[in-house]
Amino acid sequence: MSGRHRPRITCHEEMRTDPYTGGRLDLVWTMRCSCGHTREFQVTLAPASYAYGKSEAQRARREHLEAVAPRPDERCRAPKDHRCRWWDDCGLCAGQMVLPGL
Ligand SMILES: [Zn+2]
Ligand SMILES: [Zn+2]
Repeated sequence: MSGRHRPRITCHEEMRTDPYTGGRLDLVWTMRCSCGHTREFQVTLAPASYAYGKSEAQRARREHLEAVAPRPDERCRAPKDHRCRWWDDCGLCAGQMVLPGL
């Protein structure tokens, strides 16, 4: 039985101390998975970098899920019916071949 991965993406403001400018308010995008895997992306407060940080966090989420997912031919064939996500090990699909005629 392996743990499930349920990543969440959040963002918060954080004051950084800079030896040159004193202090700066930055935006930190965090991708944190229920397995403990965490990636942080620190960007400035400008709108363009806000979007950039968000897309980086989403990319990190995707990369993490691709890394933990079963091989493509072993992934769940019906995530909706089996109540799991495409990257989960599905107990219903594991070890089962598709039965002809069903
Ligand atoms: Zn995870
Ligand atoms: Zn399944």
